[in-house]
Amino acid sequence: MTEQAESGWETVIGLEIHVQLNTRSKIFSGASTQFGAEPNSQACAIDLGMPGVLPVVNAAVFPKAVAFGLGVGAEIGMTSVFDRKNYFYPDLPKGYQITQMDYPIVRGGKVDVLLPSGITKTVRLTRAHLEEDAGKSLHEEFQGATGIDLNRAGTPLLEIVSEPEMSSAVEAVAYARTIHQLVTYLDVSDGDMSQGSFRCDANVSVRRIGTPDLGTRTETKNVNSFRFLERAIDFEVARQIQILEGGGRIIQETRLYDPDKDETRPMRSKETATDYRYFPEPDLLPVVINEKFVADVRATMPELPAARRQRFESQFKLSNDDATFLSSSLPLAKYFEQAGQTAEDFRLAANWVRVELLGMLNKQGLDIGESLISATQLGELLRRIKDGTISGKIGKSIFDALWAGDATSVDEYIESHGLRQVSDSDTLTPIIEKIINDNTQQAEQYRSGKTKLLGFFVGQVMKETGGKANPQQVNDLVKTALDQAPP
Ligand code: ADP
Ligand code: MG
Repeated sequence: MTEQAESGWETVIGLEIHVQLNTRSKIFSGASTQFGAEPNSQACAIDLGMPGVLPVVNAAVFPKAVAFGLGVGAEIGMTSVFDRKNYFYPDLPKGYQITQMDYPIVRGGKVDVLLPSGITKTVRLTRAHLEEDAGKSLHEEFQGATGIDLNRAGTPLLEIVSEPEMSSAVEAVAYARTIHQLVTYLDVSDGDMSQGSFRCDANVSVRRIGTPDLGTRTETKNVNSFRFLERAIDFEVARQIQILEGGGRIIQETRLYDPDKDETRPMRSKETATDYRYFPEPDLLPVVINEKFVADVRATMPELPAARRQRFESQFKLSNDDATFLSSSLPLAKYFEQAGQTAEDFRLAANWVRVELLGMLNKQGLDIGESLISATQLGELLRRIKDGTISGKIGKSIFDALWAGDATSVDEYIESHGLRQVSDSDTLTPIIEKIINDNTQQAEQYRSGKTKLLGFFVGQVMKETGGKANPQQVNDLVKTALDQAPP
């Protein structure tokens, strides 16, 4: 932001996010929405817009759209209307897309976006509407030609449109992450960006600071990773400032981000609403929902990310950082809560989930859902650390055994491998005495003031007991033994 102030330019960004709803079948037909099938094996006559077909709305899309609307505090459109948006493009064989123009199902709303700086910024939404996805053009596999895969045609989308209120790439990414978190929490979408379930169009303009009117914008389409979104916006901002400072003007156009070259380039000049000749879809009735429908959706909504984060802080006394991280996705939040409940110690669970579990998952490139240790198993392990049955160090070795599948029950494993922590002084005292006697020189140095050597003795005892001694107790016992006058 200081950079902007120095350059004298202000950035304005509004995002349109296309979220694929995770319904089993398409929005106007019974064809499957399953990703990854053989090209053109999942588009039926309705998706292709063959003459004489009639679309029938998949009722499963409405609770999802309404849940999103409630999640952002929007007004729910009790009557929403599907329209035809007419345009020609190879991946749209019908020649039009069914969408919602004047009467969307979600109107207004806002999200609180936690920025990396720690500041929360509220971003208002314009609307969110239901529509159908188009097919996909395949360029790579074909030489001098373009392949068309229509499997995606008719997949339900919720298009979420923000107000032009973000003022940097970092803010735009934080906003997109917030929306992503919300739609996955609500089970509205699987949110899989690599499969195109969550795609961002970035509308970017710049203006001289203090200028009342917005600058001319460009729209960079279909950015499917948060990293690319940030880079596409940064590139676009720099490009526009350079043009304007050189006395040029920005052309309102649709652009494409190329991750290989890390640049955006023009795709087509911007259409306006009149180009699309919108009109109400004659084959579909307006969608009317009632208060009971909305109330039913509300009743089944899970706790939302922001509420969960706050609860993690207040109920479990987690740091803001831990609470933010552990509530960042629903599976992670659920795992953590289950582990903490079983352990009866949420802060211990927070620490282990973040350090040990996430460390392991990252190393192996796995998702939380693919963890080889269940939340209950981790909780049982932590309970035994907490109640002193085992040391933290032994705990880590059991963690590895659980991960490797060498252990299933923590308690059984502790017993069968004799891993109980040694914490009776009758066992520990003779070991400690022996170690002090074997290291008289260090003991002497300790007593003459080199108290750092305490760690050396503790380490020796831990080694002697195979890590099973209670470290705190060893610490106390060694200290007492060393502080006694030399024999
Ligand atoms: P269209 O439907 O033609 O794409 P809209 O007016 O609906 O245009 O806006 C689409 C998106 O562009 C919205 O997210 C909006 O916030 C954003 N937007 C509109 N004007 C600007 C601008 N001058 N600079 C940046 N973003 C803008
Ligand atoms: Mg648009």
